[in-house]
Formats: sequence, structure tokens, C-alpha cells
Amino acid sequence: MASMEADGPQAPYDPWWAVRRRISAAVAAAGVDPEIERLLLVPERVLEVAVPVRMDDGHVEVFSGWRVHHNVARGPAKGGIRFHPALSAGEVTALAADMTLKTAVVDIPFGGGKGGVACEPGRLSISELERLTRRYTVAIASLLGPDQDVPAPDVNTDERVMAWLLDTMDMLQGRSVPGVVTGKPLSVGGMPMHAGATSSGVVRCVRAVFAATGRPLVGARAVVQGFGKVGGPLAFLLQSAGMRVVAVADVAGAVWNPGGLDVSALAEHARSSGSVAGFVGGTPIASTDLWAVEAELVVPAALEGAIDVDAARRMTASVVVEAANGPMTPAADEVLDRRGVVVVPDILANAGGVTASYFEWAQGRQGYAWDEEMVADRLARTMDRAFGAVWARAQALGVSLRDAAGVVAVERIAAAITARGLFP
Ligand code: NAD
Repeated sequence: MASMEADGPQAPYDPWWAVRRRISAAVAAAGVDPEIERLLLVPERVLEVAVPVRMDDGHVEVFSGWRVHHNVARGPAKGGIRFHPALSAGEVTALAADMTLKTAVVDIPFGGGKGGVACEPGRLSISELERLTRRYTVAIASLLGPDQDVPAPDVNTDERVMAWLLDTMDMLQGRSVPGVVTGKPLSVGGMPMHAGATSSGVVRCVRAVFAATGRPLVGARAVVQGFGKVGGPLAFLLQSAGMRVVAVADVAGAVWNPGGLDVSALAEHARSSGSVAGFVGGTPIASTDLWAVEAELVVPAALEGAIDVDAARRMTASVVVEAANGPMTPAADEVLDRRGVVVVPDILANAGGVTASYFEWAQGRQGYAWDEEMVADRLARTMDRAFGAVWARAQALGVSLRDAAGVVAVERIAAAITARGLFP
């Protein structure tokens, strides 16, 4: 595959193009039947819907929404629901394909799906957000179900949104269907630890990659981009593991303290002010300078395409663990690869969330509540097993962890497709 000198000519960043490129590379490296590649380069199902909502002042706004099933050979579609103004069909499709790969890397019985609405939730009142969620749920309801498609939270959606989705599905069907959605509140069949499962899984990968590469964890410096549902708990867990979190950014700004930020105080500041910006326990820095901060570890935990070629060239860290989905452009990935930076890819690093979702789905179907110890233990074992499989494949093939994760995933998906055969 030709190397790219910059992010263009595909710039502005096209996440679906980037995932297709990764799938093709993984199929080639795995040596599976090229027909499998043709199946994986096209989503199985893309539903685009209008979501009309009566706003509080009486006028009607019409939002666009999507639900995509990329591939369901290994089980029902699994993937989050994102509310974001820049959302597009291409981005949702890319995220759905990532879910196909991710569920295969951690070897849980799901395929890949994703959905969302192009909207700015911060500008909606709670009642507008609820009406939007319920109307969107009705619009995509024909695709949803414990055996078909099981959504979960993603950017700008949370357990409250999942509870509205659950309630709407229950109302439509006239019965309780707890397995239809994960990331629910505990009071309606949620899973202990679900909210922190993604960050716990990321930290498990940080520990594993530092151990596998002989790097000391305690005292090492970490930079985190994003301080939301993943980045917030993650910064705390990294600090608890003995690391120094030296810089954190969110959409409104970035703060830096070479001695280590007090993450609890930072979280308190972010809770009361809405952002890490303005935190007195650190120095403000430009968001673009975040990547150049002296550190051993960088964890992007915000949005796609955050690390471009320029960021990759300026980065001092020797390990990147991708908590966000697709946080790096392919060109930036090449730069880091050439520089010998170890990258733990998103489809492995942030799979803790979907793993906990699997446990919650199983709990809903069993009608038996799992306790926190069981969740934590199984989550840790699943992440360690997945990291071990990817690490071993990378060593055996002499490829990056990203390529190895792709190979592990594609082999498992190909096995399912081959076992099923082609209908009719
Ligand atoms: P979130 O909405 O809770 O938080 C996003 C964070 O990113 C916020 O702090 C926001 O301020 C910050 N951000 C947004 N734009 C930014 C910018 N330009 N510069 C710096 N910071 C910026 O979302 P989340 O659930 O924490 O998800 C973060 C990433 O992790 C996404 O890529 C998501 O797909 C991925 N992910 C989330 C989960 C999960 O369980 N929530 C699971 C797997 C993957």
C-alpha cells in the first residue's frame, strides 16, 4: 500500500475511507479469501431517518439520524448511539465497521453496528433531548432487538438516554425487553461498572503494553485528550496506577503540570465549571500543543482524527493507547510507526465498554444480576486474553499491534462468514 506524505488528498479526514483501508490491509495480512474483503467493504444495512422534534418554543426542527449494521456474521449488531452536530452517514458506517472488528478482537458474540443523530445536545433542553431520543428510537425500532441490534451510549449520550430508548422499545412492544440496550441505569437492569468499563479496559492495556515492552509504569507521565465518560475516569485510574497525568485537554482547553495534575481536584473543577480549562492546579496550554508535552504515554479519549501528521511528528511519548475510536489519521499512524512508537489500537484498547455491554446483555437475557466482582474479574480476563492474542500475533508476523488486531479480528469474522456460507 502506498505511503502517504500528508493527510491529503483524502483530507478532510474521511473515517469510512480509513476503516476500509484498514480492513483491506488486515485481509491481505491474514491471507483470508479476498471475497471476505468484498463483503466487509460494504455495510450490510444503512438506515437514514428524519427525526422531527417539537422544540420547547413550539416550532419543529428536523434532525437527521442513522443506524448502520456493518456486519452481523458473528451475532447481533452492537454499537453505540452518538449525538453530534458533525455526524454523517460515512462516520456512522466507519464506527459500525470498527465495532465489527472490535467485538471480534475481544471474541464476544456480536457483529458491528452504530447509530446517531446529527444534533447539538448542549443546545437542547432535557425535554427536547428526550423527545429527540424517543422519536429517533421509533424511527430505527425495526432494526433493534436483543437478537438483532443492541445499542449503547457513545459521545454525548449516557445512561439516561439509554433508559429513554429502553422505555420507548418497551412501550412499542408492550413488554419488558432489557436485552434491547446496554449502558442502562442500574435501576432498570444496568451493569455495575458499565460506566467505567471502557477506561478500566484501557488501563488494563496500558499495564499490559508497559509490561510487554519492559517500561516501568510507576512514575511514568501520561497525557490524556478528552475528559468525558472515558477520559475522566481514565485519568483517575492512571493516577491510581502510579502514573503522573501531566496534561489533560477537553473541547474548551488544555492544562499542563509537569509534576502531575491532581486529577480529583481537576474532576471537581470540571464538574463545577464544565471544563478542565481554567484549572488553577495547572498551566493553560494550546490544545494543539498537547501532543508535544513531554510524556511516556499519550491516550486520545475524545474524537476521530485528533492526531494528525503534525501531532504525530511532535509527539514525545513512545506509547499511544487509543481510548477514542479512530483518533489517528492513517498518515499519522505511519509517522508513529516509522518512529517506533508503540500504538495499542482502538479496537483492542477501548473494547472494555463493549465487553461490559456483553455482560449486561447476558444479564438481561439470564434475568440474573451479576455482582461487581464478577464483572471486574471477567472484564480483566477478557481484556488480558485479547491483548495477549494481539501481542502474540504482532510478534509472530512482525507487524504493528494495529495490523495484528486487524488480522485477529478478520480471521474470526472470516471463520463465521465461511461457516455460514452465502444465502441463498
Ligand atoms: P464524551 O462525550 O463523554 O466525552 C468526550 C470528551 O472529549 C469531552 O471531554 C470533550 O470535551 C472532549 N472533546 C471533544 N472535542 C474535543 C477536542 N476537539 N479537543 C479536545 N477534547 C475534545 O465521550 P466519551 O464517551 O468519553 O467518548 C470518547 C471517545 O471514546 C469517543 O471516540 C468514543 O467513541 C470512544 N469510546 C467510548 C466508549 C464509552 O464507553 N463511552 C466506549 C468505546 C469508545
